[in-house]
Amino acid sequence: MTTIQKDALEIKNLTNSELLELLTAEGELQQWLWQKARETRQTHLENQAVVRGVIEISNYCQKNCDYCAIRAVNTQIERYRFTAEEILAIAQQIAEAHIPIVFLQAGQDPQCDPILEEVIPEIKRRFNVNILLCLGERPKAVYERFAELGANSYILKFESSNPELYKQIAHTSLEKRLQCARWIQEAGLKLGTGNIVGLPHQTLDMLVDDIRLALEINPDFVSSSPFIPNQNTPLESLPYGNLNYTLNTMAIYRIALKTPLIPTVSALEKIQPGGQLMGFNAGANVITINFTPQDFQEKYLIYSQKRFVVRLNHALETLHQAGLKVEKLITQNYQAN
Ligand code: SF4
Repeated sequence: MTTIQKDALEIKNLTNSELLELLTAEGELQQWLWQKARETRQTHLENQAVVRGVIEISNYCQKNCDYCAIRAVNTQIERYRFTAEEILAIAQQIAEAHIPIVFLQAGQDPQCDPILEEVIPEIKRRFNVNILLCLGERPKAVYERFAELGANSYILKFESSNPELYKQIAHTSLEKRLQCARWIQEAGLKLGTGNIVGLPHQTLDMLVDDIRLALEINPDFVSSSPFIPNQNTPLESLPYGNLNYTLNTMAIYRIALKTPLIPTVSALEKIQPGGQLMGFNAGANVITINFTPQDFQEKYLIYSQKRFVVRLNHALETLHQAGLKVEKLITQNYQAN
């Protein structure tokens, strides 16, 4: 029997056992939780969704996260790094689709920096879009430089709030990562962060702590992603992360933080067809369309060799099914059923 005060739900005032009850909710309680998340999205964001176009600009990485095939020691993948001209040509496709956010993602690859010096101001000048970056842990001066160049926001997920678990899977310290998150905010960039559900040795109590850490950081964007086993990594034989816990975490983030952008990540669709629609039903309001050319998508193995790649039609259909509004997107090639 739940002790949760449903009429006056304040996530931050819940006890750990109440938060655990929401995290693991199924059936009626889960439906109530997601409904509450959708009402919060309606009240604070008027059901407005955001679409991003991602370009995976490099699959080089200095780090060795155990769940990721881009990890530096993996010799089984072919590495690539786009030139400024290649990035600008893809950014043009994103702008032509009237997508207002160009998302530049890479492994932790400082050799991208001279390219970014050129492309960030040029993308802003040519296409008048926002620029979101996801480029890993960098010195404070580099975040400041990205902001000076015109970048608007930066994603650095904390992955796990547990220092030992984080160290075990990422081989660097959580303290350093959280310091980087603070530098991103101090540089004037909007910060996106979040966790992974289903890491080895992760307990439910750790997932509750992940939620508390996300609330404490109070980010502009927040995500929860299920763990996906990836070939040629130390964790390749582990099962997928728990879909329900991931979706419930997203709903809790929405109810607690109200306005942040919450993506319905492609990994949800990888685990279950319709998974991204479930993400929207749990309170998400962002979907990212992949504009990386197909030959290179196969080399960007952050989730798995056969990852689900989000295309424009899938995004539009999922948004339509979720009843969310998107301004300005080209829809003439899209036929809603
Ligand atoms: S998760 Fe990110 S930082 Fe870690 S190995 Fe993969 S690309 Fe590099």
